[in-house]
Amino acid sequence: MIYNLGSINADHVYRLAHLPAPGETLAAQTYAVGLGGKGANQSVAIARAGGSVRHIGAIGPDGRWMVDRLAAAGVDCSAVADADAASGHAIINVDDAGENAIVIYPGANRALGADHVRQALAQAGAGDTLILQNETACQVEAARFAQEQGLFVVYSAAPFEAEAVRAVLPYLSLLIVNEVEAAQLCSEMNGTLADLPVENVLVTLGAKGAAWYDTARGHEIRVAGFPVKAVDTTGAGDTYAGYLVAALAEGLAVKEAMRLAGAAAAIKVTRPGTADVIPTRVEVDDFLA
Ligand code: ADP
Repeated sequence: MIYNLGSINADHVYRLAHLPAPGETLAAQTYAVGLGGKGANQSVAIARAGGSVRHIGAIGPDGRWMVDRLAAAGVDCSAVADADAASGHAIINVDDAGENAIVIYPGANRALGADHVRQALAQAGAGDTLILQNETACQVEAARFAQEQGLFVVYSAAPFEAEAVRAVLPYLSLLIVNEVEAAQLCSEMNGTLADLPVENVLVTLGAKGAAWYDTARGHEIRVAGFPVKAVDTTGAGDTYAGYLVAALAEGLAVKEAMRLAGAAAAIKVTRPGTADVIPTRVEVDDFLA
């Protein structure tokens, strides 16, 4: 089983002629609401990859539809708690030039308690995986507990917060970062990726693909990006992380898992949207055939 301690957000997307200036009131041209949050995106990616995923998270009274959406994608939602806070959500303003300005309200995502997380992981053990990101609460408790239980612990260090990342590092089997986060982390730690106290680091490199560093053995595996026409890169990293974790849990070798994840993320960037357009395993296998 793959456990995902992750955020669940409603993405409210407003299309505007330009981004509002301070004090300005603007009418949006269009409005759409969809399922989002790094955690939810990664759970959907894991499920579409064919993995068994149980989401550990929380929603408010306004969030039932998001759990229904996750469940419809094949995600086990039995460890999603009901919180008294409003559900997490994002107000996403996009202007005609494609520039955006985003406000996130963490809400219920931050209302998760350590007891709930520990209970959700109580039956987990060797052979299981925990993946987590930075949009919930209790990351350190969860990672430490999971490591003690013998799980493969994967951390997608976004959104990047130096303190939060540093606290989780000692409990990881695999750290996933993009190029910007890798640079921030190295400058923060005053060293290179090889100096990090983590056995494995996967760096996503946008259109260039990704690199896996086995820091213990000083070994590097690179897989080039697939050439596609990118129209929307939102959610590319989440698609990659979800597919990678599912493929590793399935027993695929690192390079094969990276190829699958890279193909899934390449398909995603050709489609506008996030969770709803993450490709299925059949689509990814066809792409690679
Ligand atoms: P993030 O979305 O977290 O910033 P990246 O931009 O590194 O992460 O993208 C994640 C993965 O998505 C990359 O490793 C790559 O496999 C794939 N990807 C992203 N952009 C492109 C692109 N333009 N063409 C092909 N693949 C892409």
